[in-house]
Amino acid sequence: MTTAADLGNGQSPIDITDWVASAEAAPEIAYGSDAIRVERVQGLPMIHFDRGSELLLGDDRFRLLQLHWHTPAEHTIDADEFDAEVHFVHINQRDELLVVGVVYRVGDGDQSLQRIIDQTPAAGQEDGVVPSLSAADHAPQSNGFYHYTGSLTAAPFSEPVQWYLARTTGTLSRRQFEQLQALTGGPNARPLQARNERSIVCVGCIGS
Ligand SMILES: [Zn+2]
Repeated sequence: MTTAADLGNGQSPIDITDWVASAEAAPEIAYGSDAIRVERVQGLPMIHFDRGSELLLGDDRFRLLQLHWHTPAEHTIDADEFDAEVHFVHINQRDELLVVGVVYRVGDGDQSLQRIIDQTPAAGQEDGVVPSLSAADHAPQSNGFYHYTGSLTAAPFSEPVQWYLARTTGTLSRRQFEQLQALTGGPNARPLQARNERSIVCVGCIGS
């Protein structure tokens, strides 16, 4: 059992604020594979993807493992709270983790999200289910990403995880929010963690 005392000083989520624009590489997303299975971990349905969906970061190459949702959102932006957050979890050849997050607010419905909702089995029904989803149809698109070094937001809260939170936020309908909560057994957002001495940069944000 992991206790608070075992955790480092670089935990997630945090409030995204006081960032500086940076010329560091921004993620280039090149997804091109299909979903292969669903696994429920601590109640969250994780949709796993086949090899072939990549995220390039400078010379580094990560592959997409899975995506999953939290309700409400975990990260805040300038203390603004959001209603849902999707996490795209990637890994490179050195087993380093990189997560791209996108936060959503209740508003207009989102067709891409509806397809994910429709293809996600209810709790206990995931065995043998292969969702009909192509990662390319759901790739995050953003005008820049907030980047900091954090952790997994569920046990074992491993550090480090390279976080890239999309600066472009999304909307989902009230009904979609309720469907997501039902599918994920929410609320399931980890509380905000101390930022400590960490810096936050915005990549792909210069001049915009
Ligand atoms: Zn997550």
